[in-house]
Amino acid sequence: MSTIDVAGVAVDTRHYINGQRVASAETYVNTSPIDGTFLGDIARGGEAEIDLAVRAARAAFPAWSKLGPHKRGELLNKLADLVEANIETLANIETLDNGALLRSHLRGVMPRVAMNIRFFADFAMNELKHDVFETRGHTNNVSWDPSGVAALITPWNAPLMLATWKIGPALAAGDTVVLKPAEWTPLTASYFADLTKQAGIPDGVFNVVNGYGKEAGSALTAHPGIARISFTGSVPTAKIIAHAAADNLTPVSFELGGKSPCIVLADADLDLAAEIAVEQYDNAGQVCLSGTRILVHESIADAFAEKFREKAAALTQGDPRDPATDIGPQIHQVHFDRIKGFVDRAIAEGHNIVWGGEPNAELGGLYFTPTLVMNPAPGSEIVTSEIFGPVLVMQTFSTDDEVIAMANGTEFGLAAVVVSGDRDHAARITNELVAGTIWVNCFFVRDLRAPFGGSKKSGIGRDGGIWSFDFYADVKNTVISPNGWKE
Ligand code: NAD
Repeated sequence: MSTIDVAGVAVDTRHYINGQRVASAETYVNTSPIDGTFLGDIARGGEAEIDLAVRAARAAFPAWSKLGPHKRGELLNKLADLVEANIETLANIETLDNGALLRSHLRGVMPRVAMNIRFFADFAMNELKHDVFETRGHTNNVSWDPSGVAALITPWNAPLMLATWKIGPALAAGDTVVLKPAEWTPLTASYFADLTKQAGIPDGVFNVVNGYGKEAGSALTAHPGIARISFTGSVPTAKIIAHAAADNLTPVSFELGGKSPCIVLADADLDLAAEIAVEQYDNAGQVCLSGTRILVHESIADAFAEKFREKAAALTQGDPRDPATDIGPQIHQVHFDRIKGFVDRAIAEGHNIVWGGEPNAELGGLYFTPTLVMNPAPGSEIVTSEIFGPVLVMQTFSTDDEVIAMANGTEFGLAAVVVSGDRDHAARITNELVAGTIWVNCFFVRDLRAPFGGSKKSGIGRDGGIWSFDFYADVKNTVISPNGWKE
């Protein structure tokens, strides 16, 4: 069957290449993390399908790149309108496919998907500055040329949201696209492909190839016909992709994992601190930016822990389609087992599990209870490794120098949260933190004009505003002499 019924909507399970649906000889099974329901057999692409898609994207490139930002912007704004008209449909599909909260998809995520497309289209039309510099009478004209085919590889934790952070600027810059969505969550990308067709995006400009990372993903990153690789995912996969990119010297943009600190200073508002701490369980902990290491000043540790406990105890775990649910399931049995492995090893090492620490026995399936590990040994696995589940650790500190060393003491540098009642104190800490994004007295606020990305092993490059175009475009300087003209 080439289409499946997902929440009452027909979703195609085949690839989308050159404006056509393309099947593969092989398929793989996709199930819902909510209750294990079989969703469908998804086309399992490999080298042949990737080659077809890259060729289609290359063939479509000259016309799309020459269309210019305004004509492209019109089509992309039409696409954003269609996303907005289909928010409910996209939200329902995404929730069934990845198990994240329906209410978040409806209110926050899918409107943001439309904004991702609209923002970058408008940025290319209105904000991208074509600088002109004068040098001894010579004129330097700086232009942002389209670069070719952008290969986009995305994870499962926020599938369409993260894909459109890449699709928006790539298409607005005049590149054409081959997207390889995560194998566990292929469905919204497929539905989105139908919307690109309805919006009038020409055939071949946007292509989707489904399949496993080791097959479709590696074929895409090794393809000599691509001009850019933009990847969001884990550090181990990024290392493999970096090797593949090296052969063709393909530029890469990497948004990777984290083990971010959430620092509560002695002068913090403790209610606010507890509210922010409990937010770190969002999306069942499957958020790259989560401040999973709660670092609390020793003088307020007991008072903070009490407030944190109250808020954590009030979280409701259950079906993500229920508006009352705060925490849904993990994405997949493989990932669930990985999370359980981290927690089981922490228990075996004698760490103090204050709450949670086990699968939710009542719900069964892929529901793991929100967990807090208290004062684990510095340097232990639970403190340094990204778990990507609802597992937080809490550690105490006594001085600013100590907390700065703790905060910066992992291989990651994606984000950090600081909770403080004193601006100068907060600034002293944030000045010393190594992270792509730091939130002070807040969490998850994101402006598409601002840079987003990771330091150290958390990434290469930045997304957002001009930084996205700096990656997807080929920046060119044309130097024109005042001499030699015949007029
Ligand atoms: P993953 O690295 O396993 O997979 C990500 C994507 O890469 C998938 O589409 C997968 O099929 C593909 N892939 C796997 N092997 C490949 C290969 N050899 N060649 C090419 N592609 C391959 O990551 P995941 O488990 O899907 O996602 C979780 C990770 O993503 C976490 O580490 C998380 O922190 C990170 N993440 C980072 C951000 C960010 O913005 N920094 C956002 C979300 C998730």
